[in-house]
Amino acid sequence: MPKKYHIPIKPTPGRFPSIGRFYIIEQDQYCLHCPTNSCVKYNCAYGVYKERRFDSKEWKDTIDYLCKNCFRCIQECKAKAISKTKNPEYLQLGDDYWKPGIITSLWYQAETGKIPVSGAGYRGPFVGPGFDEMWTDMSEIVRPTRDGIHGREYIATNIDLGRKLPSLRFDPEGGLLSTPFPSIDLPMPIIFNPLPFGALSENVTLAMAKAAKTLGIMMVVNDRELSPSLIPYREHLIPCLNGEGKEIKGSKAVEFPYRKGCLSKVKELKAKNPEAVALIKVILNKEAKRTVLELTKTGAEIIHLSADINGHEFEENPSFIKDAIRKIHTQLVEEGIRDEVTLIVSGGIAQAEHLAKIMLCGADGCAIDLPLLIALECRLCKRCVKGLSCPVEIDSINPDWGARRIVNLMGAWHSQLIEVMGAMGIREARRLRGETGRAMFYEDMERERFGELFGKRSR
Ligand code: SF4
Ligand code: SF4
Repeated sequence: MPKKYHIPIKPTPGRFPSIGRFYIIEQDQYCLHCPTNSCVKYNCAYGVYKERRFDSKEWKDTIDYLCKNCFRCIQECKAKAISKTKNPEYLQLGDDYWKPGIITSLWYQAETGKIPVSGAGYRGPFVGPGFDEMWTDMSEIVRPTRDGIHGREYIATNIDLGRKLPSLRFDPEGGLLSTPFPSIDLPMPIIFNPLPFGALSENVTLAMAKAAKTLGIMMVVNDRELSPSLIPYREHLIPCLNGEGKEIKGSKAVEFPYRKGCLSKVKELKAKNPEAVALIKVILNKEAKRTVLELTKTGAEIIHLSADINGHEFEENPSFIKDAIRKIHTQLVEEGIRDEVTLIVSGGIAQAEHLAKIMLCGADGCAIDLPLLIALECRLCKRCVKGLSCPVEIDSINPDWGARRIVNLMGAWHSQLIEVMGAMGIREARRLRGETGRAMFYEDMERERFGELFGKRSR
């Protein structure tokens, strides 16, 4: 059995008090001054009232972040002097896609490396936009032997980055005649993408590179961000050559933006470094389907399909990434060439479940960006985009602290990927690709169950 892939988790608290979902209101004028050992504040099972402090950087009480929202103190206070309300700061986090719950869950995972547990049942709507229109089939969840996290069964999360031969040829003695293409073995189906915005600095890039090395994965880096401090991580870097940029000596992979003449750049790379693999970055729009087909037929090894940060095509009436990738994957299957190319998808991958879902839609793996920035405490306030200061001073992070937070986040995602694969009865991440038999789509269910009766329904 291959050695089990292990991600080293180390609890790494944030540098700033986080933003809690609720806001505790204490009305001291109603306080009965109960004896210390009977006051509800001293009986909090999580020691929240003892642990709270005043954060002088942000000028705020840390209680709202520490509180686990069990409501015990609120229910048990005889004078009803304690109450809770939704925290307005929490409600303002992020936007319609990067919702407050996603951001705070990513913070939790970056701090602890643990799977977030919401408990108390799901109270949300049955279906929503984007990835919430899709469900995974957890029919194997009842089998304890499928527990991949705690070691009863090995679930492999590796994927290969590279082109595959359509078939192998052997000599009469069984020796291999075909020469396989070079490829990179990734221990989990993720690579890091350059951050689309943020209070960025060399320390941020260094934190990402250190994390990529610890995880054994790869990271795309824009040529303008290449600096001497990244040299020790060169084996894990994929320089994105936007034109003038230089490749790094010894790079195992290079990314080229798709444009006229990019294939001749790939040829030049192969002539110099035949072992390197080339990624071609294609903007996800209506043209992408045709481009992917053409590139695959002309020998592309890895195609990186890039949607916008909310997972939409760059179009006026965009499709969501899951629908666009499904079409692209299906077309390659119909042409009989799907196995030859690796498809990496980026944009809108905000949670571990999105990783599994986009692979079910046909991606081999994905490239993530904003979750990494959020792991560094980003609040998605976009002040940096307007040239204003960052409230959590991301540009001045310690790279070791940042790397630990990113590794923790990936540890939590890896555990969730194993959990979802185990529940689906899939033991190899490579088998997730395009396995729509293990997924349900709202649109398909509506059409198959109610279409004949009611026609197409709009939500
Ligand atoms: S709601 Fe629960 S966790 Fe929060 S402070 Fe009160 S007793 Fe503690
Ligand atoms: S917290 Fe706001 S200013 Fe800082 S990096 Fe994130 S979006 Fe930019």
